[in-house]
Amino acid sequence: MSSAIKELSLSAKRGSLTLPEIDRKVKLLHARQRLALSKALGSPPKVENIPRGFWKRVEDEERKELYNTMLAAALIVFSPSLGRLQRHFNVQIPPDQFTRSLQDLVRSRTDWAADRIVNTSRRRMRNFLGRVQDAEGTDADYGDVMTADLARDIWDERRDEMVVRNESVASWTAGNRAVGRIARRNGFEVQDVWVLGNCDHCSICPMLAGTTVDFWGLFSPGPPLHVGCCCGVDMVIGSKEELLDRRIIHERYTANEVYAEMDRLGFELAPLAESLRR
Ligand SMILES: [Zn+2]
Ligand SMILES: [Zn+2]
Repeated sequence: MSSAIKELSLSAKRGSLTLPEIDRKVKLLHARQRLALSKALGSPPKVENIPRGFWKRVEDEERKELYNTMLAAALIVFSPSLGRLQRHFNVQIPPDQFTRSLQDLVRSRTDWAADRIVNTSRRRMRNFLGRVQDAEGTDADYGDVMTADLARDIWDERRDEMVVRNESVASWTAGNRAVGRIARRNGFEVQDVWVLGNCDHCSICPMLAGTTVDFWGLFSPGPPLHVGCCCGVDMVIGSKEELLDRRIIHERYTANEVYAEMDRLGFELAPLAESLRR
């Protein structure tokens, strides 16, 4: 185990990385980025003032910070699931295998999330600059006001909270999926079952609930399926046939029915990396 993982694993065991802490880390990061963007835009703010490579640096920083934070959050889930698996099969699986799998899953998610987050910021920035331009020739005062506007228009609290919620759900998914994946690689029959969250959800989440990764993986790399989705993935021990018999899992819908529902709601399929489906 690398020392970074060991440290994260210890902090996860102590339960020191709680939701409010993830929240604080993400908010600090975005406050820093907001300040940097405000400085880069200059006064009056102009998109041409932004130096080359600025957004690349923002994206790199976002990816790195999200990765560290999510990995720590995923370890909270990972430890008990791993313990459950080892007790059930009475085996000891080298922890390195799990951490590598977990790192892969978290890395795929954070690469995707950082790209999405930065693109949204850029789009919001263009809207913001459009409004600034409209205000030109009026009494609009740049400077102090701009930072406040940037905060409101590009990185408001609600957006931070949404990112924290989504990425927390994604970390829990990664933690449980890492255990399921390695269990299967070691020859144990374990299923990654989609569990419906106790929150407002769309009409698709209930169609995926109770299915295994070979079905829900056609539509999503795992919860969250959409903004505000609080579904999860649970590692369930047993063969598919046995779990179907016991009605712990089901195959109630066809893939085409789910696709049709996604189409009706205008859902954009998340890009599914082949490695995430397995
Ligand atoms: Zn939903
Ligand atoms: Zn959901």
